[in-house]
Amino acid sequence: MLMAKAHPSLLQLQEDDLQLALTQWSLGNGLTMYPPGFNVSSTGAAPVTFFPTPFPRTAFQTAIDVQKVFNELYIGVVSRQKSWLLQILEDLSRFDRDFTGKLFGLYKQSLVNGTSVQPVSLGVFRSDYMVDEDSKVKQIEFNTVSVSFGGLSTKVGQAHQYLNNSGLYDHKYSSTYYDDDELPVSTSASELARGLAQGVQFYSDSRTVVLMIIQPDERNVFDQKHIEFNLLAEFGVRTVRMTLQDVQNNTTVREQKLYIKLTMDEVSVVYFRAGYGPAEYSDDLLWDARLYLEKTLAIKCPSILTQLSGAKKVQQLLTQPEVIKQILPDLNGVEYDRLMSTFVKIFPLDDSEDGQFAKKQAMESPAKYVLKPQREGGGNNIYKENIPNFLAKLPQSDWGAYILMELINPASHQNVILRQGEVIKEEIISELGTFGTALYDETTGKVHHNDYAGWLLRSKVSSSDEGGVAAGFGCVDSVYLF
Ligand code: ADP
Ligand code: MG
Repeated sequence: MLMAKAHPSLLQLQEDDLQLALTQWSLGNGLTMYPPGFNVSSTGAAPVTFFPTPFPRTAFQTAIDVQKVFNELYIGVVSRQKSWLLQILEDLSRFDRDFTGKLFGLYKQSLVNGTSVQPVSLGVFRSDYMVDEDSKVKQIEFNTVSVSFGGLSTKVGQAHQYLNNSGLYDHKYSSTYYDDDELPVSTSASELARGLAQGVQFYSDSRTVVLMIIQPDERNVFDQKHIEFNLLAEFGVRTVRMTLQDVQNNTTVREQKLYIKLTMDEVSVVYFRAGYGPAEYSDDLLWDARLYLEKTLAIKCPSILTQLSGAKKVQQLLTQPEVIKQILPDLNGVEYDRLMSTFVKIFPLDDSEDGQFAKKQAMESPAKYVLKPQREGGGNNIYKENIPNFLAKLPQSDWGAYILMELINPASHQNVILRQGEVIKEEIISELGTFGTALYDETTGKVHHNDYAGWLLRSKVSSSDEGGVAAGFGCVDSVYLF
C-alpha cells in the first residue's frame, strides 16, 4: 500500500511564520469569510488548514471520473423517470409536509397546462465523498441546490501551493516539501462560472444577467463573489444579488420574462445560493417569491424539481442496480462498476424486506449507522448510539421519512486548523466534493451540456460528527495526492 508522507514538522517559530504567511495570503487573495456578527467592511480569513491533507490519487481520480455519470443519473431522474420521481415526492410530502410537501406543492402550482414554463434546467451539483478503509471514495450525498465552496476551493489550493513554493513548508526555508503534481488546484471557481454562462448563452444571444438568490446574513459571501467575478471577467456576464425577501419588489415580469426593475435587465439564469432549508421560508411571502420565479422563463439553477431530486430518499433508491439500469440503460460496464463502487449500503426504514432488516439493525447495531431525514445544510443527522432512542420516540409510521446509511470510517490525519486567528492542532478527517454542471431539458431529457467542474476538500476535527464550514465545525482544505 502507498504511504503518505506526514506533513512537514516545523519549529514553533516556523509555524508562526507559516500562520502569518497563510493569513496574509488569504486576506490578500480573497480566501475570506465574514466573521460572526460582521458588518460589510469586516474582514476575516476563511478557516483553513496549514497543510494540504493526504488523499489517495486513485480515489481522487475515481471521484472525478464518475462525476458526469452522476450528473446524467440525476438528469435522468428529473426527465425520463419523472413519473417515478413524482410518485416518490408524493410519498415524501406526506412525511415532510412543511418542506418537501410545500416545495413539491409549488412545483405543481408552477405548471401551466401540465408543463413547466421553462423546461430547461441548470444543474450545479456537488457529489460528496469520504475515503473508506480500502482507500475507495464512498458517496456521502449528492447535492442539487446551492452547493458552496467552489470559489474558495480554488483559493485554498493556490494558498497551499504558495506556501510550498515559498519554502515555508521546509524547515530550512529552501526546498519545496511537495512536488507540483502532488498539489493540484481545483478549477471550480472558473468552471462554475462557465456552467452558469452556458445557461446564459442558451437562453439568448442578447445581453442578460444572472440573478443570484442569497441568504440575508450570508457569511460565505466571497465564495460566491469569486464565481461572480469570473462570470464577468471570463464571460462578460453581470450578476445581480438579491434575497428571496426582495425578489418581488425588485424584479418585474412581462410575458413571463423576468427583469431587474432598476435597470430592466432581463434575467436569463436564477442561481439559488439560498432556499434549501425550511428556516429560509419563515414567511408565506418567501414561498410566493419562489413560485413567482419558477413561473418565469428564466432558467432556474436549480428548478424546484431538480432541487427535490436531491432528496436523501432518492439517493437511497439510486444505489439499487435495477433502478440505475432503468435510468441509464446505455451505461457501459466500466462506468457502471465505477458508479457502484462509490456506494455504501443505504436502507429504507419502511415495510419492505430491506426496511425490516434495517429497522432491526438500527436498534441492535446502531454504531455502524447514521440516520438521515429529508433535510439539507447540516446538523440534521442522528448518529450511532443516538439512533434507537430517537426512533423509539417517533411513531413507526413516520420512520419511512428517514434513511439508514452505513457509516464511512475515513482515516484521520494530523494537521493544523487556523480559524479566526486560533490554531487548532488535531487529527482531522476530510470530505471530498466534486462539482458538476449540466444544462438539460426536464421535459424531453435532451442534454445540452454535461461537465465535470472541479473539486473541494473540507476537513473537520475527527471527534465531531458533522462538518459544516460556515456552521463552524470545519474548514476548507486542499489535497496532497499520494
Ligand atoms: P446534509 O444534507 O445536512 O449536508 P449529509 O448527508 O452531507 O447531510 O451529512 C452531513 C455530514 O455528516 C457529512 O458532511 C459527514 O461529515 C457526515 N456524514 C454523513 N453521512 C455519513 C456517512 N455515511 N459516514 C460518515 N459520515 C457521514
Ligand atoms: Mg452535506
